[in-house]
Amino acid sequence: MSDLLGKVALVTGGSRGIGAAIAKRLAADGADVAISYASSPAKAATVVAEIESLGRRAFSVRADQGHRGQVAGLIRQVHEYFGKLDILVNSAAVFITGPVDDANADLASFDRQQAINIDGVVTAVRTAVPLLSDGGRIISIGSTVAESTPFPGFGDYAATKAAVAAYTRAWARDLGARRITVNVVQPGPINTDANPETSDFAPVVAKMTALGRYGQPEEIAAAVAFLAGPDANYVSGATLNVDGGLA
Ligand code: NDP
Repeated sequence: MSDLLGKVALVTGGSRGIGAAIAKRLAADGADVAISYASSPAKAATVVAEIESLGRRAFSVRADQGHRGQVAGLIRQVHEYFGKLDILVNSAAVFITGPVDDANADLASFDRQQAINIDGVVTAVRTAVPLLSDGGRIISIGSTVAESTPFPGFGDYAATKAAVAAYTRAWARDLGARRITVNVVQPGPINTDANPETSDFAPVVAKMTALGRYGQPEEIAAAVAFLAGPDANYVSGATLNVDGGLA
């Protein structure tokens, strides 16, 4: 596939898991790709090397998604390096759970989760919009828990992903005149460090999907590649659940 030849993409949180799979898929489809990471320089370097081996340009930037200044700096650095930005994929996030009736809850960790999962996305988009090419793409990785919460303790995380979905619909309205599409992909259970299919919990979750299994990061990357490409020119403000038919 060469649908994205000549395009420039940034994938936040591209050093591991879903973000890494997205970065590699966009490169396989022809894009030059930058990735950000927080604490895994070696893993980020491996992803960059894999992209370069496909004949595409790539680089990585350490940028804490919970720090507005670093996020804005990341966007500007990528735009300056490649001379443009066509596709922004917001994938970096953390997953912190705990029931609302826990008197000893670590509230600071919930604040940090909001800073990364919501404020980081908002800052990335606000900074990117004036730099993004007309006809560009903004694709955020949400979660099915934005819509349904089958387990206790998910409130804080789910709320961050519901915020991303709400922003997505609103931003699609704001940016339509420039043919910039804005969409959210909501994964179900996907086999990554954050949610390994080998955990004790995994068989219970797998049984809740129609397909009876965890998804793989590449299956989320395929949906992102569709939304990034020309076949999705008329798709905006959409929520695409990629969850194996999760009930
Ligand atoms: P992982 O924990 O496997 O990877 C997280 C990625 O985000 C890493 O690249 C990590 O960088 C980066 N990251 C984390 N914190 C920060 C930060 N403060 N600043 C910059 N980068 C950061 O997560 P997944 O691949 O599982 O998740 C990717 C996305 O998919 C997230 O938005 C998540 O909420 C969503 N999702 C995942 C599901 C799943 O089942 N796996 C289900 C539903 C949604 P580093 O390597 O440096 O730590």
